[in-house]
Amino acid sequence: MLRSYFADMHIHIGRDMYGQPVKITGSKNLTLTHVLQEASRNKGIDLIGVIDCQSPAVQTEIKQLLSTGHATELSEGGIRFEAVTLILGSEIEIYDEHCQGPIHVLCYFPTLNHMDLFSKWLTDHMKNITLSSQRYYGSAKRLQYKVKELEGLFILAHVFTPFKSTYGKGVKKSLTEVFDPDLIDGIELGLSSDTEMADHIKELHDYTFLTNSDAHSLAKIAREYQMIQMLEPTFKEFQWALHHINDRRITKNYGMNPLLGKYYTTVCHQCLTSLSPNARTCSNCQSKKVTKGVADRIQELSDTDRSAEQRPPYLHQVPLEYLPKLGPKTYTNLLQKFKTEMFVIHEATQEDLETVVSKKLAQTIIDMRHGHLSIEAGGGGKYGRLK
Ligand SMILES: [Zn+2]
Ligand SMILES: [Zn+2]
Repeated sequence: MLRSYFADMHIHIGRDMYGQPVKITGSKNLTLTHVLQEASRNKGIDLIGVIDCQSPAVQTEIKQLLSTGHATELSEGGIRFEAVTLILGSEIEIYDEHCQGPIHVLCYFPTLNHMDLFSKWLTDHMKNITLSSQRYYGSAKRLQYKVKELEGLFILAHVFTPFKSTYGKGVKKSLTEVFDPDLIDGIELGLSSDTEMADHIKELHDYTFLTNSDAHSLAKIAREYQMIQMLEPTFKEFQWALHHINDRRITKNYGMNPLLGKYYTTVCHQCLTSLSPNARTCSNCQSKKVTKGVADRIQELSDTDRSAEQRPPYLHQVPLEYLPKLGPKTYTNLLQKFKTEMFVIHEATQEDLETVVSKKLAQTIIDMRHGHLSIEAGGGGKYGRLK
């Protein structure tokens, strides 16, 4: 069996998981080819989900890569480009009559043909298919049936984020208000939660947790990811891993410490004053725009203290570039010596690391490998930081 790394990515300039507009920074354009190159060459990711594949521009680029021989379709699903396998996905916004607010979901398909059929179906249910995370006009269950009909995977995206998520504002109490629970293949946790927190909700115990963050820049690819035990990086193996078939499974989740997240606690959207979990108006500026923190929302929904059986460990990590004292020059040196970020984070020995970076930084990288980074909690609308 192989240890594969899976991460997930938005291509287009759009809105992030909190509904905020995102600016793309960095020298390269955020095209599919650049995403695949970065994932394969620098990050060392084996599987990457790109969730704008319903867009005609992205599909055209995939077809070009295939026709020029830069990429090949795998018989077990997925598209291989250099060392990385692309998993074709689409992020959809649902707001049917059972939703309390808009909900984001992820749909993944095995082949370009399946994705193509899905896009055609979507055009009749959407206003503008060229944008990412577009509103779908139809019921959540209808969408689930379509995805299953096309042999796809249906995953609830960043389920706790205050905006556009299942538990954020989408449902009152339970995902069954909106979805058919038997047609959900996985639950994506998102930046401000981890396994321990999410397991306080009993109905989630039946599902595999995914740690992905929709990276909107090349540098942020694999800000969160998972280690998967599989034979080779393909769609079918990924599907098996989500359902623990033939010993395929997620063996570790890597994500940011929820305390580093900006929306861990409840804050005023206007002036960022920290508020009590049930505040309706801001005590400082009287604004009624209160953003309920992820921790407070989970507390509210919590119905068990037992954790699910067989959860893989969740390790708190950050991308290399977030580490104190690791500037662009050091980053380049590390990649020159070790080729990929995944190799630096998981494989390089302390001794080898010390040939490129200081003893202290080498130790920090080793500490991070084992999930022992020390952080200062965020809150009040500010990100936490590493000590
Ligand atoms: Zn989203
Ligand atoms: Zn305020």
